[in-house]
Amino acid sequence: MNRLGIIGCGITGAITATLLKQELPHVNIVILEKSRGTGGRMSTARSSFGSSVDLGAQFITKTSNLSKTQEKFYHHLLEDRVLQPMPENVEGLRSISSATGHFICPQGSGSLVKYFLKKLDCDILFGHRVTKISSSDSKWKTICENGATHEFDALILTIPVPQVLQLDGLTSYLESEQLENLKAVEYCSRFAVGFFYKNESSFFKDVLWCAKFLSDDIIRYCALDVNKRKATGLPSVVFHTSKEFGKAYIDQDASVVQDIIVQRIKQIFPEMPVPEEIRCHKWRFSQVEKKYCEQGCTVLSRKPLLICGGDGFLQSNFEGCIASAESIVQKFLKKL
Ligand SMILES: Cc1cc2nc3c(=O)[nH]c(=O)nc-3n(C[C@H](O)[C@H](O)[C@H](O)COP(=O)(O)OP(=O)(O)OC[C@H]3O[C@@H](n4cnc5c(N)ncnc54)[C@H](O)[C@@H]3O)c2cc1C
Repeated sequence: MNRLGIIGCGITGAITATLLKQELPHVNIVILEKSRGTGGRMSTARSSFGSSVDLGAQFITKTSNLSKTQEKFYHHLLEDRVLQPMPENVEGLRSISSATGHFICPQGSGSLVKYFLKKLDCDILFGHRVTKISSSDSKWKTICENGATHEFDALILTIPVPQVLQLDGLTSYLESEQLENLKAVEYCSRFAVGFFYKNESSFFKDVLWCAKFLSDDIIRYCALDVNKRKATGLPSVVFHTSKEFGKAYIDQDASVVQDIIVQRIKQIFPEMPVPEEIRCHKWRFSQVEKKYCEQGCTVLSRKPLLICGGDGFLQSNFEGCIASAESIVQKFLKKL
């Protein structure tokens, strides 16, 4: 095994690469990522004047069911202050019986993914959306939208399952049962809207909560991002829509959807100042609703090796992604 390809540079891809490098330091790992940056659904968006907001993942919930790898990661992340305890003033947070703590990323959730990548010796190719895969001579060939082609001795997919199914050529390598099982995986959709401000306002100082879960039909969650992250900097606010709204509006024109959401925000928070900039992001595959039938990951082809993992194989959170990465690595080493 000389050259391994990982498709997707979210948290699952970053941790899979980290764990594999520990086991196989000589292997050349290349991560292909369609976006211009890392993080996937754990990324932090920036305004044109440099302030930031987490549009995807908000909190890391630590539970009592940790593997040794998860324990170790938490230890280092807390020691290096990549994670810090979440402020107490979060309204309406659902209690989870196995939860032993909630954490935030002071530098934004994107910093969590960057933390793992910083220590890694591997190539990350941005702007590389893989559209097609094929195998020949015991190698996988990937073809990207930008025309780039790469050959790998093995391939690991860490992208949401519906996006796996969009890869041209993949289905010809699958057994019909595997295909049906992949098709059965379901994600909910949500919109995230970020409000960026150039000035401080008494609104942000006077509000007693830093994040709040709402029972509104459209807006389900809101966070004063800088307060939530216990950070300094210009104010920013994030709103997440309900999954019902996400489902109903997912294919509508983006500006129409943004207007509906912004109008609703004005009704719910009439005192909130008008933002300098607004960013509306569509999470078509937000969080898994119906996971894959096998835990952690699945082997789609043995020769050449093709493994598929990610949150669609467990649950949509940090621990689910670490557990999936652990499972990918276990299967990978077994099949070598
Ligand atoms: C709105 C929202 C709120 C959330 N809140 C929380 C929370 O509070 N706490 C928590 O723990 N989790 C939360 N989650 C879930 C968490 O963000 C995800 O479970 C986790 O980020 C999934 O990581 P991943 O690496 O498996 O997938 P992703 O983050 O989706 O990474 C996949 C990567 O693959 C890339 N990609 C996709 N297709 C291709 C292709 N064809 N070629 C190349 N690259 C490709 C994508 O650009 C992406 O970077 C939330 C998610 C959302 C959307």
